[in-house]
Amino acid sequence: MSLNGLWKTALGAAALAMACGASAAPKGIAVSVVPEKHALGQEDDVVVSVTVTNTSDSPQYLLKWRTPFEGVDAPLFDVKRDGEPVPYLGALVKRGAPKQSDYFLLKPGASHTVKVELSALYDMSVTGDYQISYKTASPDLFWNGHGKDMSEMASEAATVWVDGRLPRGATPQAVLDLEAMKRDAANPSPSAGSLSFSKCTTTQQTTITQALSAGLNMATNSDAYMSSGAPGPRYTKWFGATDSARVNRVKANFAAIKDAFANKPVTVDCGCKKTYYAYVYPTQPYTIYVCKAFWSAPLTGTDSKGGTLLHEMSHFNVVAGTDDHAYGQAAAANLAITNPALAVENADSHEYFGENTPALQ
Ligand SMILES: [Zn+2]
Repeated sequence: MSLNGLWKTALGAAALAMACGASAAPKGIAVSVVPEKHALGQEDDVVVSVTVTNTSDSPQYLLKWRTPFEGVDAPLFDVKRDGEPVPYLGALVKRGAPKQSDYFLLKPGASHTVKVELSALYDMSVTGDYQISYKTASPDLFWNGHGKDMSEMASEAATVWVDGRLPRGATPQAVLDLEAMKRDAANPSPSAGSLSFSKCTTTQQTTITQALSAGLNMATNSDAYMSSGAPGPRYTKWFGATDSARVNRVKANFAAIKDAFANKPVTVDCGCKKTYYAYVYPTQPYTIYVCKAFWSAPLTGTDSKGGTLLHEMSHFNVVAGTDDHAYGQAAAANLAITNPALAVENADSHEYFGENTPALQ
């Protein structure tokens, strides 16, 4: 599958449909997406209003980062152009397991509406009819029962016509870029991997060099494990029941992650002041933005600096194209049991397998 990863929303949606049936509003939550304009030109931003309503008679606590209420840094929408999935261009963030303060209270009957500018988040450069719906799923979506079963919030699709920079039927630039990167990856240049820095102090540079080495060690160890024959309890713990397609996916993922650590030009940016660990833009390898939680993490072990870099490296579409379905060891271990198809595309599952703490065979 040459476009592995770029279509994560579409693939995730398919896996989720299998996982949780068609229950769009399992908790009495309704979501609507209303475009500001229905026909847009090249210079127009595509803006939609998203309204989330509690249609139940009890208070609902929604995970803030699965809502658009405080900005969007996850693929929270399903966007199609003339029926084709549209690449997500935004960020993916590594966060810790959610706390109650990470949830937004929506009282019975209450609504909350925000505007979202979508053309910065999805590649809408090609002319066509765009179908836009809100679609997000996570075992952590609602505070009540979080970490257990997958829950989903979804809207009906809204349609807008975009007169884009590129003619109807053209291939979006993000897809062309990914195809070029895949070709480059298949014909490796003799230059070895390199590490450069942006906005990092010399002390931070020393720490990052150690963290990158730790991440490479984890990826090398994981790749060797996956290449050595039948997967054992370490695999099952993080990726669930063995199935040859899923085992092969994980094996290919770790081979690609190891190759990226060893052979690609990595840039680490220290400018982020957010409380979470790190983020990347999956369409922009190999720049990793590290944030506050990264600096207080141990070098190796659970939720470590080395593991965070492995997590982030797995997100790049040209590497493994992983997503963030569940954060934290408890939710990741539960995902392996309840939904191995999502576990093998979940970044934290790769991180915990790589960190292997406590160690399993
Ligand atoms: Zn992530």
